[in-house]
Amino acid sequence: MILKVMLDLIVPPRCPISGEIVGDTGQLSADVWNQIHFISAPYCATCGVPFSAAHVVEDGAICAVCIADKPHYDSARAAVVYDDLTRQMVLRYKHGDHLYLARAFTPWMERAGYDLIAAADYILPVPLHWTRLLKRRYNQAAILAQALAVKHGKIYAPSVLKRIRATSPQGRRGAKDRKVNVKNAFAINDRGALGGKTVLLIDDVMTSGATVNECAKALKQAGADVVHILSVARAVKK
Ligand SMILES: [Zn+2]
Repeated sequence: MILKVMLDLIVPPRCPISGEIVGDTGQLSADVWNQIHFISAPYCATCGVPFSAAHVVEDGAICAVCIADKPHYDSARAAVVYDDLTRQMVLRYKHGDHLYLARAFTPWMERAGYDLIAAADYILPVPLHWTRLLKRRYNQAAILAQALAVKHGKIYAPSVLKRIRATSPQGRRGAKDRKVNVKNAFAINDRGALGGKTVLLIDDVMTSGATVNECAKALKQAGADVVHILSVARAVKK
């Protein structure tokens, strides 16, 4: 404690975005906090995309995209809208070794997906291919999945699902291309483990949902009863 106080005096914790001095490592300044768009109801009961506030929608309403092409997962939720600000945060977390940001992200995810966490038997991350893991040194989704599993007394099962094909980054691809890119990229290590289980799959960003949907397909084929998705941020079309 004394050491922490001394350290804070020498190197006070700063907001990772604005650089303002804040109370604790990973904390955001009030100004930045107010600019984050947290996702709240109403949203699609399946993929979690927020409905515009102008429309009155009933509980359990499903968006046109999910009606046209029903996902393999049962439901997906995300904490915040993926925009310029949250993209900056995720990129620092993912590529810049700013791992303390996990401490900001996990409470957001708990708020957005408390019911999905409660329902889960297993919590696991979207896996990286080993070649990418080697390059990046850590799986950003695994750190979040493990933190949530430990805190909520769930089984953390990072090795159930594996990426068997090194796919090129989804980056600038369109929705159709993304689907093709990740097709059959995942496989199950321990087929016996999943029978009748509820799985919560964790990712940092959900864009078209093609990656998590392909993961959910593999998990369901291996016997998982229910697959939910929880991510920090999700892309929302304007
Ligand atoms: Zn939907």
